[in-house]
Amino acid sequence: MDTILLPADENSVKQAAELLRAGQVVAFPTETVYGLGADGLNAQAVAAIFAAKERPADNPLIVHVAERSQLDGLCYVTKAAEALMDAFWPGPLTLLLMKTKSVPNITTAFLPSVAVRCPSHPVARALLRACALPIAAPSANRSGRPSPTTAQDVLEDMQGRIPFILDGGACDVGVESTVLDLTGEVPCILRPGAVTAKDVASVAGACTVAASVMRPLKEGESAPSPGMRHRHYAPKAKMTVYLGSDEEVAKAIIARYDAAENAAILAHGSAQPLFGDRRVFSLGDTPQEGAHLLFRRLREMDALGVSLILAQGWNAEGEALAVMNRMARAAAFDLVNV
Ligand code: AMP
Ligand code: MG
Repeated sequence: MDTILLPADENSVKQAAELLRAGQVVAFPTETVYGLGADGLNAQAVAAIFAAKERPADNPLIVHVAERSQLDGLCYVTKAAEALMDAFWPGPLTLLLMKTKSVPNITTAFLPSVAVRCPSHPVARALLRACALPIAAPSANRSGRPSPTTAQDVLEDMQGRIPFILDGGACDVGVESTVLDLTGEVPCILRPGAVTAKDVASVAGACTVAASVMRPLKEGESAPSPGMRHRHYAPKAKMTVYLGSDEEVAKAIIARYDAAENAAILAHGSAQPLFGDRRVFSLGDTPQEGAHLLFRRLREMDALGVSLILAQGWNAEGEALAVMNRMARAAAFDLVNV
């Protein structure tokens, strides 16, 4: 299969929408990461997403809509969900709601709930409006690879596997949406993103965060969000994340770097001068900048054949929870406090 990559404009969006209506798979930009979309109500089209990604069948997809009214008949929208949609849609917040029979089991991996989101990216919105379908779309990477934040990243993983990629430039947020479970008594974050627990609590009154967000699952423990069972966000290199003051972190990283071969450092902008002429990549100075840059940096280091990544993290709380959840997983939970 040839893969066509076109800059997003009126014509290419129309072309992409026609492919979606014909049951094909199309990659498109969102404000979080690039998505791999297909008609979420067409089981065959959804199966093609799983095939292109080599995604395990037990990992459900998020269904994207342009308008709230597209949820009619798909899921049961609660009062809390309505308030959260008022506050955060369109945007990087995915809500888990009980589904109806209209949503095929393959889309939700046979779960009784469906994940729904209304993205804010203008290209995503134009595409969703043009095809007028609820679009199931996981991140547009091969399963287990860092999520794509540019159209080039998508091409790297999907060339020859999908017919069409819409190029809308680099994604703003850089990590996937917040996944919020609304099927229990208290809203619970299963995957942290740009919308934080504090943001949710300010609207819904309360919000908890699943314990497995910042630690590996125990033997036999069931994952609240199936995606957490699987190897995720992983670079090819081995990775360790260090936490502490810039000076202490730099000391620990330098000792390890100098004793290793082919290592690279991923550090906050402010700490970079501490590493001299060693190979350093910047994660920016705030957790939001870190989220924006993390997957891009992991892919850059993979392309250079780096075999050890020594990274500086942030305390895993508040706005830093999203980037630290991805960093911890990329490092297979090899976290060191110095
Ligand atoms: P991705 O689109 O690659 O970011 O993956 C979507 C993630 O949303 C999955 O990894 C799941 O963890 C989560 N998800 C989607 N649907 C459900 C659901 N019905 N129940 C729990 N988690 C879900
Ligand atoms: Mg993904």
